[in-house]
Amino acid sequence: MKKVNLIVPCYNEAEALPLFKDELNKVIQTLDQYTFEILLINDGSTDTTLSVMKEICDTDSHYKYISFSRNFGKEAAMYAGFCNSDGDYAAIMDADMQDPPALLPDMLHCLETEDYDSVATRRVSRIGEPKIRSFFARNFYKLINKISDADVVDGARDFRLMKREMVDSIVAMCEYNRFSKGIFGWIGFKTKWLEYENVNRIAGETKWSFWGLFKYAVDGIINFSETPMSLASGLGIFLTIFSFLMVIFIIIRKEIFGDPVAGWPSLACIIIFIAGLQFLCMGIMGKYIAKTYLEVKNRPHYIVSETNKDHVDPIH
Ligand code: UDP
Ligand code: MG
Repeated sequence: MKKVNLIVPCYNEAEALPLFKDELNKVIQTLDQYTFEILLINDGSTDTTLSVMKEICDTDSHYKYISFSRNFGKEAAMYAGFCNSDGDYAAIMDADMQDPPALLPDMLHCLETEDYDSVATRRVSRIGEPKIRSFFARNFYKLINKISDADVVDGARDFRLMKREMVDSIVAMCEYNRFSKGIFGWIGFKTKWLEYENVNRIAGETKWSFWGLFKYAVDGIINFSETPMSLASGLGIFLTIFSFLMVIFIIIRKEIFGDPVAGWPSLACIIIFIAGLQFLCMGIMGKYIAKTYLEVKNRPHYIVSETNKDHVDPIH
């Protein structure tokens, strides 16, 4: 029998988890040709998520939990899931039912019968989401696809079912600054896309603030694109040539027409403008250096404080 790992990152999901479990179990019962192992990753929740997880694991042997020593973020939770899965297939699923378990049978059927390595899902609508968030999300996808070598699909969820080879490739990408949407695209393989209408969170609240999402988007671009850095140096070259031409222009005006450029305000404006650009470019370079710094420090992605699963690396 083939084994399927479902990886569920949970951060303060005490309300949603029992509902998720009931819904998922209904679907799993119809798929008795597979064995399922569901990995609940407690990402340093501050509510009763961990005790809810333990209760679920006590009553249902399909479920295992891994609990982090603090909140390491969804990316670290997903990585922990991939590193500790050994099934033929693995999928990430959110605990809030925004990744409908009802899609699982179709996804499994597709991997079994068609020549694909993964089945991914994308939302075709963003109903229920704040308008401003949708606007920025849409433009972020357009931008990152234009300037990076990662193929990121608009509306793509992290919910995708993958074959073992793909999971192994993801585990091998052990970078500290993780941007899974980019990683999934970067590693390649043949992916089939399933589309569905957005589903609202069943209980609890989203963990993403606008600022959090903005930082995540910047991280994604920095991780998969050198374009901001190239733009910064391009701007530097342009301004150097421009100022050189200005100098020649001023000398000619003074020497031939006896008309020196008057007034300090124009000068002050130019200095402030150039200084501003310099700081901006330095900031962009700084972002890359900071990422490199974090990467070379080689810190663990996550630290496990408690688990009921065998062979879990406590520090990874
Ligand atoms: N999550 C996590 N760690 C975090 C933030 C979120 O494990 O630091 C989990 C969360 O519990 C949920 C999933 O990641 O299962 C998606 O989070 P959320 O629903 O808040 O994001 P949204 O669906 O609004 O993008
Ligand atoms: Mg959600």
